[in-house]
Amino acid sequence: MDSKVAIVTGSSQGIGRAIAIELASLGLKVVVNYANSKAAAEEVVKDIIRNGGEAIAVQANIANLEDVKKLIDNTLNKFGRIDILVNNAGITRDKLLLRMKLDDWQTVIDLNLTGVFLCTQAVIKTMLKQKNGRIINVSSIVGEVGNPGQANYSAAKAGILGFTKSVAKEVASRGITVNAIAPGFIKTNMTKDLEKENVLQSIPLKRLGTPEEVAGLTRFLAVDPSAAYITGQVINIDGGMVMN
Ligand code: NAP
Repeated sequence: MDSKVAIVTGSSQGIGRAIAIELASLGLKVVVNYANSKAAAEEVVKDIIRNGGEAIAVQANIANLEDVKKLIDNTLNKFGRIDILVNNAGITRDKLLLRMKLDDWQTVIDLNLTGVFLCTQAVIKTMLKQKNGRIINVSSIVGEVGNPGQANYSAAKAGILGFTKSVAKEVASRGITVNAIAPGFIKTNMTKDLEKENVLQSIPLKRLGTPEEVAGLTRFLAVDPSAAYITGQVINIDGGMVMN
Protein backbone atom coordinates (compact mmCIF):
# COMPACT_ATOMS: atom_id res chain seq x y z
CA MET A 1 0.00 0.00 0.00
CA ASP A 2 3.00 2.22 0.51
CA SER A 3 2.71 4.26 -2.67
CA LYS A 4 -1.09 4.53 -2.80
CA VAL A 5 -2.80 7.85 -2.17
CA ALA A 6 -6.32 8.40 -0.81
CA ILE A 7 -8.46 11.52 -0.52
CA VAL A 8 -11.18 11.38 2.13
CA THR A 9 -13.57 14.31 1.96
CA GLY A 10 -14.89 15.58 5.29
CA SER A 11 -12.38 13.66 7.40
CA SER A 12 -11.87 16.11 10.26
CA GLN A 13 -14.36 14.14 12.38
CA GLY A 14 -16.86 11.28 12.48
CA ILE A 15 -16.90 8.61 9.81
CA GLY A 16 -14.41 10.39 7.53
CA ARG A 17 -11.89 10.69 10.36
CA ALA A 18 -12.13 6.95 11.07
CA ILE A 19 -11.71 6.17 7.35
CA ALA A 20 -8.64 8.42 7.05
CA ILE A 21 -7.02 6.81 10.10
CA GLU A 22 -7.87 3.29 8.89
CA LEU A 23 -6.42 3.83 5.39
CA ALA A 24 -3.30 5.51 6.80
CA SER A 25 -2.75 2.56 9.14
CA LEU A 26 -2.37 0.38 6.02
CA GLY A 27 0.41 2.61 4.70
CA LEU A 28 -1.64 4.76 2.34
CA LYS A 29 -0.84 8.44 2.06
CA VAL A 30 -3.99 10.27 3.07
CA VAL A 31 -5.42 13.69 2.30
CA VAL A 32 -7.61 14.83 5.19
CA ASN A 33 -10.12 17.29 3.76
CA TYR A 34 -12.20 19.61 5.94
CA ALA A 35 -14.39 22.67 5.54
CA ASN A 36 -14.20 24.54 8.87
CA SER A 37 -12.62 22.33 11.55
CA LYS A 38 -8.94 23.17 10.95
CA ALA A 39 -7.74 22.14 14.41
CA ALA A 40 -9.60 18.83 14.28
CA ALA A 41 -8.23 18.03 10.81
CA GLU A 42 -4.70 18.86 11.94
CA GLU A 43 -5.21 16.57 14.94
CA VAL A 44 -6.17 13.71 12.57
CA VAL A 45 -2.98 14.35 10.58
CA LYS A 46 -0.88 14.43 13.76
CA ASP A 47 -2.47 11.16 14.90
CA ILE A 48 -1.59 9.52 11.60
CA ILE A 49 1.99 10.80 11.64
CA ARG A 50 2.43 9.74 15.30
CA ASN A 51 1.52 6.22 14.20
CA GLY A 52 4.10 6.22 11.41
CA GLY A 53 1.77 7.22 8.55
CA GLU A 54 1.75 10.08 6.07
CA ALA A 55 -1.04 12.65 5.68
CA ILE A 56 -1.80 16.27 4.93
CA ALA A 57 -4.84 18.39 5.77
CA VAL A 58 -6.44 20.43 2.98
CA GLN A 59 -9.21 22.94 3.55
CA ALA A 60 -11.76 22.84 0.72
CA ASN A 61 -15.49 23.36 0.52
CA ILE A 62 -16.24 20.47 -1.79
CA ALA A 63 -19.43 22.12 -3.03
CA ASN A 64 -17.21 24.74 -4.69
CA LEU A 65 -15.48 23.98 -8.00
CA GLU A 66 -12.42 26.17 -7.30
CA ASP A 67 -11.93 24.59 -3.87
CA VAL A 68 -12.17 21.10 -5.35
CA LYS A 69 -9.50 22.04 -7.92
CA LYS A 70 -7.32 23.22 -5.03
CA LEU A 71 -7.90 19.91 -3.19
CA ILE A 72 -6.83 17.87 -6.21
CA ASP A 73 -3.88 20.15 -7.09
CA ASN A 74 -2.56 20.02 -3.52
CA THR A 75 -2.86 16.23 -3.53
CA LEU A 76 -1.04 15.82 -6.85
CA ASN A 77 1.65 18.36 -5.90
CA LYS A 78 2.33 16.59 -2.63
CA PHE A 79 1.86 12.91 -3.53
CA GLY A 80 1.85 12.74 -7.37
CA ARG A 81 -1.10 10.37 -7.78
CA ILE A 82 -4.64 9.56 -6.57
CA ASP A 83 -5.70 5.94 -6.13
CA ILE A 84 -8.71 6.23 -3.85
CA LEU A 85 -11.43 8.82 -3.42
CA VAL A 86 -13.86 8.51 -0.55
CA ASN A 87 -16.72 10.95 -1.07
CA ASN A 88 -17.72 11.18 2.56
CA ALA A 89 -18.46 14.85 3.37
CA GLY A 90 -22.11 15.45 4.14
CA ILE A 91 -24.51 17.57 6.15
CA THR A 92 -28.14 17.57 7.21
CA ARG A 93 -30.67 20.43 7.27
CA ASP A 94 -33.71 18.54 8.49
CA LYS A 95 -37.19 20.06 8.15
CA LEU A 96 -40.59 18.80 7.15
CA LEU A 97 -41.32 19.58 3.51
CA LEU A 98 -43.84 22.33 4.29
CA ARG A 99 -41.22 24.24 6.30
CA MET A 100 -38.23 23.50 4.09
CA LYS A 101 -36.73 26.64 2.56
CA LEU A 102 -35.09 26.62 -0.85
CA ASP A 103 -31.81 27.30 0.94
CA ASP A 104 -32.21 24.15 3.10
CA TRP A 105 -32.78 22.14 -0.05
CA GLN A 106 -30.02 23.73 -2.13
CA THR A 107 -27.31 23.66 0.54
CA VAL A 108 -27.77 19.94 1.12
CA ILE A 109 -27.96 19.10 -2.59
CA ASP A 110 -24.90 21.28 -3.32
CA LEU A 111 -22.70 19.54 -0.79
CA ASN A 112 -24.10 16.01 -0.54
CA LEU A 113 -24.69 15.44 -4.26
CA THR A 114 -22.99 18.10 -6.39
CA GLY A 115 -19.90 17.79 -4.17
CA VAL A 116 -19.70 14.09 -5.05
CA PHE A 117 -19.96 14.95 -8.75
CA LEU A 118 -17.28 17.67 -8.52
CA CYS A 119 -14.76 15.53 -6.61
CA THR A 120 -15.32 12.46 -8.77
CA GLN A 121 -14.98 14.41 -11.99
CA ALA A 122 -11.85 16.08 -10.67
CA VAL A 123 -10.05 12.80 -9.86
CA ILE A 124 -11.25 10.71 -12.78
CA LYS A 125 -8.74 12.06 -15.31
CA THR A 126 -5.85 11.03 -13.05
CA MET A 127 -7.39 7.60 -12.42
CA LEU A 128 -8.04 7.06 -16.15
CA LYS A 129 -4.38 7.84 -16.86
CA GLN A 130 -3.28 5.46 -14.10
CA LYS A 131 -5.75 2.83 -15.36
CA ASN A 132 -6.77 2.12 -11.81
CA GLY A 133 -8.74 3.71 -9.02
CA ARG A 134 -11.38 3.05 -6.45
CA ILE A 135 -14.15 5.45 -5.57
CA ILE A 136 -16.40 4.96 -2.57
CA ASN A 137 -19.43 7.21 -2.18
CA VAL A 138 -21.00 7.54 1.25
CA SER A 139 -24.76 7.47 0.78
CA SER A 140 -27.26 6.50 3.50
CA ILE A 141 -30.13 4.10 4.04
CA VAL A 142 -32.26 7.26 3.93
CA GLY A 143 -31.42 7.44 0.21
CA GLU A 144 -32.98 4.00 -0.19
CA VAL A 145 -36.06 4.17 2.01
CA GLY A 146 -36.62 7.87 2.78
CA ASN A 147 -37.19 9.57 6.13
CA PRO A 148 -39.71 12.22 7.22
CA GLY A 149 -37.95 15.57 7.65
CA GLN A 150 -35.13 14.62 5.31
CA ALA A 151 -36.52 15.15 1.79
CA ASN A 152 -33.41 17.16 0.84
CA TYR A 153 -30.96 14.71 2.41
CA SER A 154 -32.67 11.59 1.06
CA ALA A 155 -32.90 13.10 -2.45
CA ALA A 156 -29.16 13.80 -2.37
CA LYS A 157 -28.30 10.37 -0.98
CA ALA A 158 -30.57 8.64 -3.54
CA GLY A 159 -28.91 10.75 -6.24
CA ILE A 160 -25.55 9.37 -5.15
CA LEU A 161 -26.81 5.84 -5.85
CA GLY A 162 -27.75 6.62 -9.47
CA PHE A 163 -24.53 8.58 -9.92
CA THR A 164 -22.47 5.67 -8.55
CA LYS A 165 -24.02 3.16 -10.95
CA SER A 166 -23.70 5.39 -14.03
CA VAL A 167 -20.08 6.32 -13.37
CA ALA A 168 -19.24 2.70 -12.51
CA LYS A 169 -20.46 1.71 -15.98
CA GLU A 170 -18.54 4.56 -17.65
CA VAL A 171 -15.17 3.73 -16.15
CA ALA A 172 -15.27 -0.03 -15.57
CA SER A 173 -13.30 -0.84 -18.72
CA ARG A 174 -10.44 1.33 -17.40
CA GLY A 175 -9.91 -0.59 -14.18
CA ILE A 176 -11.76 1.85 -11.95
CA THR A 177 -14.43 0.69 -9.52
CA VAL A 178 -17.16 2.91 -8.08
CA ASN A 179 -19.31 1.76 -5.18
CA ALA A 180 -21.63 3.29 -2.61
CA ILE A 181 -22.02 2.46 1.04
CA ALA A 182 -25.25 3.11 2.88
CA PRO A 183 -24.83 3.50 6.64
CA GLY A 184 -27.75 3.42 9.03
CA PHE A 185 -27.34 5.20 12.38
CA ILE A 186 -23.66 5.68 13.19
CA LYS A 187 -22.39 7.29 16.40
CA THR A 188 -21.11 10.73 15.28
CA ASN A 189 -21.97 14.41 15.76
CA MET A 190 -24.60 14.01 13.04
CA THR A 191 -26.63 11.63 15.20
CA LYS A 192 -25.97 13.11 18.65
CA ASP A 193 -29.47 14.61 19.00
CA LEU A 194 -31.40 11.48 18.04
CA GLU A 195 -34.01 10.14 20.42
CA LYS A 196 -32.17 7.05 21.56
CA GLU A 197 -35.09 4.79 22.49
CA ASN A 198 -37.04 5.22 19.25
CA VAL A 199 -33.94 4.73 17.20
CA LEU A 200 -32.79 1.59 18.97
CA GLN A 201 -36.25 0.07 18.51
CA SER A 202 -35.80 0.34 14.74
CA ILE A 203 -32.40 -1.38 14.61
CA PRO A 204 -32.45 -5.19 14.61
CA LEU A 205 -28.94 -5.27 16.14
CA LYS A 206 -30.17 -2.83 18.87
CA ARG A 207 -27.21 -0.44 18.78
CA LEU A 208 -25.75 2.36 16.70
CA GLY A 209 -22.84 1.53 14.44
CA THR A 210 -19.37 2.96 15.00
CA PRO A 211 -17.32 5.06 12.59
CA GLU A 212 -14.65 2.35 12.80
CA GLU A 213 -17.09 -0.26 11.48
CA VAL A 214 -17.88 1.97 8.49
CA ALA A 215 -14.15 2.50 8.02
CA GLY A 216 -13.65 -1.27 7.89
CA LEU A 217 -16.16 -1.66 5.07
CA THR A 218 -14.60 1.27 3.24
CA ARG A 219 -11.14 -0.26 3.64
CA PHE A 220 -12.38 -3.47 2.02
CA LEU A 221 -13.82 -1.67 -0.99
CA ALA A 222 -10.86 0.70 -1.26
CA VAL A 223 -7.89 -1.63 -0.99
CA ASP A 224 -8.75 -5.31 -0.71
CA PRO A 225 -7.70 -7.22 -3.85
CA SER A 226 -10.92 -9.25 -3.79
CA ALA A 227 -12.98 -6.05 -4.01
CA ALA A 228 -11.55 -5.45 -7.50
CA TYR A 229 -14.53 -7.38 -8.94
CA ILE A 230 -17.15 -5.31 -7.12
CA THR A 231 -18.46 -2.22 -8.88
CA GLY A 232 -21.68 -0.24 -9.10
CA GLN A 233 -22.91 -1.76 -5.84
CA VAL A 234 -24.61 -0.30 -2.80
CA ILE A 235 -23.53 -1.96 0.43
CA ASN A 236 -25.55 -1.33 3.57
CA ILE A 237 -23.98 -1.10 7.00
CA ASP A 238 -26.97 -0.49 9.23
CA GLY A 239 -27.41 -3.15 11.90
CA GLY A 240 -30.04 -4.81 9.73
CA MET A 241 -32.37 -1.82 9.30
CA VAL A 242 -32.79 -2.26 5.55
CA MET A 243 -32.71 -5.81 4.26
CA ASN A 244 -32.76 -5.75 0.46
P1 NAP B 1 -20.01 14.60 10.81
O1 NAP B 1 -19.42 13.96 12.01
O2 NAP B 1 -20.96 15.74 10.96
O3 NAP B 1 -18.80 15.06 9.84
C1 NAP B 1 -19.07 15.70 8.63
C2 NAP B 1 -17.77 15.97 7.92
O4 NAP B 1 -18.08 16.61 6.67
C3 NAP B 1 -16.85 16.90 8.68
O5 NAP B 1 -15.52 16.48 8.53
C4 NAP B 1 -17.07 18.24 7.99
O6 NAP B 1 -15.93 19.10 8.01
C5 NAP B 1 -17.29 17.78 6.56
N1 NAP B 1 -17.93 18.82 5.78
C6 NAP B 1 -19.07 19.50 6.04
N2 NAP B 1 -19.29 20.41 5.09
C7 NAP B 1 -18.26 20.30 4.21
C8 NAP B 1 -17.91 20.99 3.01
N3 NAP B 1 -18.69 21.97 2.52
N4 NAP B 1 -16.77 20.63 2.36
C9 NAP B 1 -15.98 19.65 2.86
N5 NAP B 1 -16.25 18.97 3.98
C10 NAP B 1 -17.38 19.30 4.65
O7 NAP B 1 -20.79 13.56 9.90
P2 NAP B 1 -20.70 11.94 9.84
O8 NAP B 1 -21.80 11.41 10.67
O9 NAP B 1 -19.32 11.49 10.06
O10 NAP B 1 -21.13 11.73 8.32
C11 NAP B 1 -20.20 11.44 7.29
C12 NAP B 1 -20.96 10.98 6.06
O11 NAP B 1 -21.72 9.81 6.38
C13 NAP B 1 -21.97 12.00 5.54
O12 NAP B 1 -22.00 11.98 4.14
C14 NAP B 1 -23.28 11.50 6.11
O13 NAP B 1 -24.38 11.93 5.34
C15 NAP B 1 -23.06 10.01 6.02
N6 NAP B 1 -23.93 9.24 6.89
C16 NAP B 1 -23.85 9.39 8.25
C17 NAP B 1 -24.68 8.64 9.06
C18 NAP B 1 -24.64 8.73 10.56
O14 NAP B 1 -25.48 8.09 11.22
N7 NAP B 1 -23.71 9.45 11.16
C19 NAP B 1 -25.60 7.76 8.48
C20 NAP B 1 -25.65 7.64 7.11
C21 NAP B 1 -24.80 8.39 6.32
P3 NAP B 1 -15.84 20.29 9.11
O15 NAP B 1 -15.71 19.58 10.43
O16 NAP B 1 -14.62 21.04 8.74
O17 NAP B 1 -17.11 21.07 8.99
